[in-house]
Amino acid sequence: MNIVIWGSRGSIPSPGFTTIRYGGESTCIEVRGDEGEVIIIDAGSGIRKLGEKLLKEPSVLKINLLFTHSHWDHLSGFPFFRPAYFSKFTFALCGGSEAQKSVLDYLSHQMDPPYFPVSFSELKAKFLSGCNCNNPICNHSLCYSGASLKCEAIPLNHPNGGFGFKLSDKSGSFVFLTDNEIRYAHDGGATREEYLAFCRNADLLFHDAQYSEHEYKKTRGWGHSTFLDAIDLAIDAGVKRLGLFHHDPDRTDDQLDQQMEWCVKYIKEKGSPLDCFACAEGMSLIV
Ligand SMILES: [Zn+2]
Ligand SMILES: [Zn+2]
Repeated sequence: MNIVIWGSRGSIPSPGFTTIRYGGESTCIEVRGDEGEVIIIDAGSGIRKLGEKLLKEPSVLKINLLFTHSHWDHLSGFPFFRPAYFSKFTFALCGGSEAQKSVLDYLSHQMDPPYFPVSFSELKAKFLSGCNCNNPICNHSLCYSGASLKCEAIPLNHPNGGFGFKLSDKSGSFVFLTDNEIRYAHDGGATREEYLAFCRNADLLFHDAQYSEHEYKKTRGWGHSTFLDAIDLAIDAGVKRLGLFHHDPDRTDDQLDQQMEWCVKYIKEKGSPLDCFACAEGMSLIV
């Protein structure tokens, strides 16, 4: 599968001179399966530019939209996602079993007056609500496309809940865990042991790493992890490549570079072969 990052910023889009290299768009990930499946994870501001690209690909008509949760930085790009305005597109929406019925609500509510000038009812695309599976944790929203990818979900440790996803095929696995606070127990969240099992031997993991240890003293309980937590989880789970994700909106490119120097040194000191990098807009990775 091929993974493209359209937005890796957390909390709020943060364009500007200090965020050019890693990007300022909020969460949006494009995954292409080997059989041509198109999966989009989250509709943060990054989905706008992805939409423009998809409009230039006549063969793409069915798209799976997976949502980690309903916070604005993961939804606010949707009204600007132009494929949603064309009747030729079909979107299968999924947000894990508990959110299954509400994903459509999240998307339409943010377009209700007086928040947005165009109402959801004016969108011409067809929206399918989830996959109607009976699994306690939804794991096959992708089945309608005859996909080569298997999708599993795990609850996030995050205020108001949410889901992380694992996409696997015969070549390997990609785990996406953002807005996940490993060191804190939020209602409905999984344990560190459960995250370890979920990420075990993953080829690629994107994990929330919004805060430094110093910052976390003031942000504990806000739903995000530190660089250290993300790296320790990846090392303990035997992950091959770790992309640090959900960059703080105030984190400049230079600060992130400095932070990455510390991360690489820490991984080396632990004697781990983990390949670690900071996710940046425009990155394309193969699993
Ligand atoms: Zn977020
Ligand atoms: Zn969130």
